[in-house]
Amino acid sequence: MLVPRKLANTRQRQAILDVLRNTDIHPTAEEVYEMVRKRLPRISLGTVYRNLEALSDHGLIQKLEIAGTQKRFDGRMDKHYHIRCVVCGRVADLPYQQIDVGEERFREATDFEIIGHRLEFWGICPQCQKARAESGETAAGKKIF
Ligand SMILES: [Zn+2]
Ligand SMILES: [Zn+2]
Repeated sequence: MLVPRKLANTRQRQAILDVLRNTDIHPTAEEVYEMVRKRLPRISLGTVYRNLEALSDHGLIQKLEIAGTQKRFDGRMDKHYHIRCVVCGRVADLPYQQIDVGEERFREATDFEIIGHRLEFWGICPQCQKARAESGETAAGKKIF
């Protein structure tokens, strides 16, 4: 029974990959599960978790580990930055522009071999801005961190 099982896995993996390639919401594992289930109703959350890890280990998707939040996944592999809404947690893409953070400078400040860095933007998404405007709150009027 090894072969059909392997085929099933490939089909599941492909479905997960398709879902991620066709969305820009940077879903959590649970959200991927909800989307994949529409195509493969019998898939389990555990299978989705395992496949997400495998796909990211193989460099086919990006795993976004943003400080203090749930892991999110991204089917876009080209270089780009992310911005996170501090109110609702949604993550959006920012067009990539080369930002010189001066990695060279940090090389001298540590014995570590620097292999990269992560740059995180945060803000308030349009929906949350709108909700705040409607409830009479200003972004500055409430402590959000
Ligand atoms: Zn928001
Ligand atoms: Zn992205």
